[in-house]
Amino acid sequence: MDCLFCKIIAGEIPSKKLYEDEDVYAFYDIEPQAPVHFLVVPKMHISGPDQIDEKSERVVGKIFSVIAMLAKELKLEKGYRVVTNCGEEGGQTVGHLHYHVLAGRNLSWPPG
Ligand code: AMP
Ligand code: ZN
Repeated sequence: MDCLFCKIIAGEIPSKKLYEDEDVYAFYDIEPQAPVHFLVVPKMHISGPDQIDEKSERVVGKIFSVIAMLAKELKLEKGYRVVTNCGEEGGQTVGHLHYHVLAGRNLSWPPG
């Protein structure tokens, strides 16, 4: 399958890895939008948030516990934002479910 994040998970494309277990992979975003910006993805290919179903509930839940663990590890005690973009108008550019974690500056709300 021609999927950028599947290739990163498989090690075919290099990444700055932060965390990995049997279900989840986390790595720094190549174009950071904040002083801290990393992505947390399921190892199984799910093309986006709109494809989450009963089969993927467990791994999606795990992603959020990995995010909480990494936020502690990276000492993001001042706060952070978790974002997932869906589809064209939602700003999704890579067709493999991913959660952005942004921190290290004041993040505006609502997003642009
Ligand atoms: P989205 O626009 O929500 O689909 O997010 C895709 C994200 O993937 C963007 O923030 C990109 O900067 C990031 N990205 C694209 N290619 C790579 C790569 N090779 N390594 C790390 N992050 C990447
Ligand atoms: Zn994929």
